[in-house]
Amino acid sequence: MVLSEVEITKPDSASATTRVLLNGDISMAVETQALGAENNLCSMYEEKVRPCIDLIDSLRALGVEQDLALPAIAVIGDQSSGKSSVLEALSGVALPRGTGIVTRCPLVLKLKKLVNEDEWRGKVSYQDIEMEISDASEVEKEVSKAQNVIAGEGMGISHELISLEISSPHVPDLTLIDLPGITRVAVGNQPADIGRQIKALIKKYINKQETINLVVVPSNVDIATTEALSMAQEVDPEGDRTIGILTKPDLVDRGTEDKVVDVVRNLVCHLKKGYMIVKCRGQQDIQDRLSLAEALQREKAFFEDHPHFRNLLEEGRATVPCLAERLTTELIIHISKSLPLLENQIKESHQKITEELQKYGVDIPEEENEKMFFLIDKINAFNQDILALIQGEEIVGEEDTRLFTKLRKEFCKWSVLIEENFQKSYEIISRQVWKFECQFRGRELPGFVNYKTFETIVKQQIRTLEEPAVDMLHKVTDIVRMAFSDVSIKNFEEFFNLHRTAKELGDT
Ligand code: GDP
Ligand code: MG
Repeated sequence: MVLSEVEITKPDSASATTRVLLNGDISMAVETQALGAENNLCSMYEEKVRPCIDLIDSLRALGVEQDLALPAIAVIGDQSSGKSSVLEALSGVALPRGTGIVTRCPLVLKLKKLVNEDEWRGKVSYQDIEMEISDASEVEKEVSKAQNVIAGEGMGISHELISLEISSPHVPDLTLIDLPGITRVAVGNQPADIGRQIKALIKKYINKQETINLVVVPSNVDIATTEALSMAQEVDPEGDRTIGILTKPDLVDRGTEDKVVDVVRNLVCHLKKGYMIVKCRGQQDIQDRLSLAEALQREKAFFEDHPHFRNLLEEGRATVPCLAERLTTELIIHISKSLPLLENQIKESHQKITEELQKYGVDIPEEENEKMFFLIDKINAFNQDILALIQGEEIVGEEDTRLFTKLRKEFCKWSVLIEENFQKSYEIISRQVWKFECQFRGRELPGFVNYKTFETIVKQQIRTLEEPAVDMLHKVTDIVRMAFSDVSIKNFEEFFNLHRTAKELGDT
């Protein structure tokens, strides 16, 4: 039962009227009508989301852009469920639509509000191509062209995205993403795994925390069987950023209207954020060149006159303007939620940069003579560290070892190697000495081998040690060079020439 009806007209916006209905259960239904406004998100957006976006803009001006993805709205659903139509109605920008796979690449629609200009500007970019558009009616054609270039003419899809930037005084600052529809069977020359490919592509977009997922389902389809809904629930199990949208209410089979009403009232497949129902332009409307503004009027009339869906309109669950209002609210909540996250990110990177800054130590003085002292101090500090290194007194970390210790380890290995070599060669030498005694002994006393012969025998043995000895030398010089380089980095990290000179010294 309706107890009271309050009508509020926003002072600065002639086009939006909000009517609040209070009924006996003290539940509230808000209905907003953006009369005559083609782009419905715009009017509400301006007043409520604008402050949030302004805040983010000022942060962007400070250079935090890389850390923050702006809120986006992505639509997912089966092929021809009406995704592009919903986006179109929300943004006021005509997109390619129709039957079959129409959206074959992700289309990122970046809407930018122009404040002091009255112009409409569009730009389609993909691959290396950038295409300026001066008239809104060319958007559809250019987007189709881009799709053909990227995904080929035909039915193929591509992960490569098309970016469509629209700047106009009549659009909100918002990013909308149109994605290919989910298909199950490949047709024509489509790859057999087209369904899997499309799902992977969709997931990439709806996974992002900044994205609000609109799950689009035609009213004349059994919602329980929709893949899109389960995909959305997978990436957003808490349902914090998923909203169900029912389309094509004019195509509902007679007698099944009550079922549709139950779905919209969230009684069938429960979603934390619930459902909305909208009617967009059908194929016939497009052929009749029905404008987006007229389509909104017709939508309103359709719900008002509908015996079953009229109630949904009163409950604030139907029409595009109402959906726009709803999304605005969701966006504000979403942005507010992501702000603390952003704050943390900024704090973290601030901390990191401060630490890095500290590493660079004191500033280089401006004065020439002071510069000399500064340089001398730097070199002295380096020398001190090198001295400590060669005296085995350098300071090392918990896990690290001193240079001497490192070298000693290598020499230990070396002495083991010599010992092994000696053990091996002892017998050979004895055998050779014995052979000499038996075969070639001249005037020498017993046990005294001729010097030349002895030299030859020993040289043979020493030769086998040559290669490991050179290896050992390289190892040790590498270790020493590394230690020098570390000291140089520590002292001269930010002074490239000093570091290079010190390194050259270490290498010689
Ligand atoms: P998408 O493939 O999900 O992007 O679907 P489209 O937005 O291209 O819509 C597919 C077809 O459904 C188009 O011919 C639209 O005109 C039509 N369509 C979309 N919404 C409605 C609606 O509310 N009512 C009717 N009758 N047709 C609609
Ligand atoms: Mg589409």
